[in-house]
Amino acid sequence: MLSKNQLEIDFEKLISAINRKGDIKTVKFQPVYLNMMKVQQDRIKEICGNRFDKIEARGSLISILIAYTREEIQFINHLKPDGLRDTEQWNKYASAYYLLNDQLNIIADKIAKKVEGIPILATLEGIAGKVNHVSDYFLQTVSHRHIAELAGIGWRGKNQLIIHPKFSCAIRFVSIITPYQYEADNKSDNNSCEDCRACLDVCNFLDKQSILKDYREQCRRYINHLNLNADVCGKCIKACVNNSKFSSNFNLKKLKIIKNYIVKWPKDIINLHFYRYFNIPNIINVRLLSY
Ligand code: SF4
Ligand code: SF4
Repeated sequence: MLSKNQLEIDFEKLISAINRKGDIKTVKFQPVYLNMMKVQQDRIKEICGNRFDKIEARGSLISILIAYTREEIQFINHLKPDGLRDTEQWNKYASAYYLLNDQLNIIADKIAKKVEGIPILATLEGIAGKVNHVSDYFLQTVSHRHIAELAGIGWRGKNQLIIHPKFSCAIRFVSIITPYQYEADNKSDNNSCEDCRACLDVCNFLDKQSILKDYREQCRRYINHLNLNADVCGKCIKACVNNSKFSSNFNLKKLKIIKNYIVKWPKDIINLHFYRYFNIPNIINVRLLSY
């Protein structure tokens, strides 16, 4: 069995290779499973297949996050000089979202191989406009946020995202189911937002969540209305990074992920989303950049 210490070392190598920051935590499988909605339990059972009983009895979940860079977050809700929304800039955040998902999936796959595990993909992309209601998501996904929260990655913010003490909610998750028994990390204090309300000030749906029937459905419709290249909005993330009570504690990577770094990236990370992110038209240009 791979020790927890070795797991953290291996993760650090993978995250450094792509010039990003991240975090990894573990939690026992059973308490997370018992705290899930029935539909999510069914989904995770399906993913485990005939390994479910063994995993439920002794297994663990590994929660991994990768953080956006500060620059990627500033593309959110970018305005033109005339005050109109700059969709082209906002779409750069959408591209970063895809790239992070790819990077997470690749890292999860590599870690899963070391722990006889099963990776749960980072997200289902492009379904916000295909489902009729936000509750339809629950049938198709396992909540990485739920796993991350119970693994102690951060606290549940007023924007309902997980707030990491160093990276705010400018993060994306992936999870791995493993039959190995790992010590659980401590869960964070859930009242850690204190009297901050930066995210509530930028989003009426969040501000009125206690009186709305389901604010997440309003959020889904707003995301559809934005019609960006990914199912994203991110205004509540940017508010947390820039304006929250804790913004001076957050330490997102400041540099843009520059093209020159691709020479160091594992080949399998250079894929379609990579080209879109860097606006590179074809493989020949990628090769030229390596010299
Ligand atoms: S993603 Fe946008 S619409 Fe959804 S809660 Fe955050 S700010 Fe509001
Ligand atoms: S902006 Fe403030 S209130 Fe909202 S999630 Fe971040 S810390 Fe919490």
